[in-house]
Amino acid sequence: MAPTPSVHGAASLAPIPIAKPFLDTAEADAARDAVLSGWLSQGQQVAAFEREFAAMTGAKYGCAVSNCTTALHLALLAVGVGQGDEVITSSHSFIATANSIRYCGAKPIFVDIDPATYNLDPLCVAEAITPSTRAILTIHQMGMPCDLTSLLAVANQHGVPLIEDAACASGSQIAIDGDWEFVGRPRGTAACFSFHPRKVITTGEGGMVTTSDPEIDSKLRLWRQHGMNVPDTVRHSSPQVIFEDYVSVGFNYRMTDIQAAIGRKQLERLPTIVARRRAIASRYAELLGDVDGLTLPFEPEWARSNWQSYCVRLPDRVDQKTVMQSLLDQGIATRRGIMCSHREAPYAGEERRHSLRQSELAQDHSILLPIYAQMTEDDQARVADALKAELGYGRAA
Ligand SMILES: *Cc1c(COP(=O)(O)O)cnc(C)c1O
Repeated sequence: MAPTPSVHGAASLAPIPIAKPFLDTAEADAARDAVLSGWLSQGQQVAAFEREFAAMTGAKYGCAVSNCTTALHLALLAVGVGQGDEVITSSHSFIATANSIRYCGAKPIFVDIDPATYNLDPLCVAEAITPSTRAILTIHQMGMPCDLTSLLAVANQHGVPLIEDAACASGSQIAIDGDWEFVGRPRGTAACFSFHPRKVITTGEGGMVTTSDPEIDSKLRLWRQHGMNVPDTVRHSSPQVIFEDYVSVGFNYRMTDIQAAIGRKQLERLPTIVARRRAIASRYAELLGDVDGLTLPFEPEWARSNWQSYCVRLPDRVDQKTVMQSLLDQGIATRRGIMCSHREAPYAGEERRHSLRQSELAQDHSILLPIYAQMTEDDQARVADALKAELGYGRAA
């Protein structure tokens, strides 16, 4: 528990959270209007949010779903991942990435990350390809674009589809052949986004799949609503009686219009939110740049992160949990580095073909620092000072 603010004038002890969604009355009013409209699920608000999100990314289609986990599940199914297939991915990710592969009856083949970016190492991916590889599931981890150019080269060479887990990457940019574009255009077959409150824009819960392939898009639309071949909006507006068919076993992965109405307002704010986060990340680099042994996150010259998280690698000599506890005692929330799925019960028994050493080191030696659009300069200085003090920076040796 973070200490409560002291009444003795120590206002600086106000807790600093790890993250904070950025919403106000614009979102609240939009949600209210959606409620009062009388159409509450997968109606005009969802359709508009899909169009606007797709337009932002440059993708032809956007298909809204209930969250990013269901987005990943549908995207993998849509490229044909099924029972017994292998999908190459990173263990060093939120467990939903691996779970989405299991949902398809397929097997995650975990390969290691590039420790500089925490993203899949394309060389490791290339080595892991077998005749059973059905897809590559790459992640734009913590909003940092992964090396899509190299990963696409591997995918194309082997004729394997590439799916992008862009859960954290709304508003991140990547330069391909020198031109900047938003993550999610997509360069792979499909990109999957999350609107959970821990991400840069939120609808409470929510997800989106972007693609430029009309066949993939129509599969997603069919499967997200029970395999039903006539959308509710079409049936509702038709002057003729229409009977729908259920052409396959689908899912209920729909987004509500209340969520979509909030999402449209969030999307308008996305450029401002990303600009703020980028400014905060630059300032962290200034405040922490000269701390001995501390490794700051690396942004390749072809990447512009939305800084969904700001992850620092601690010096090997210090204990991660001790540092985190000390900061927490001062009211500063942190999180440990991204988890490794292969260390959790559902994946511990999975056959280990490849070294995951960099993934494990990243989990054990990194911490995430607070970052959110509303963060004040004072709070940021407090975080930096507390971390420096904890690392003995500036103290006599
Ligand atoms: C958050 C996250 C997910 C899951 O998103 P939900 O919308 O909560 O389902 C998947 N993958 C990664 C990398 C994430 O960070």
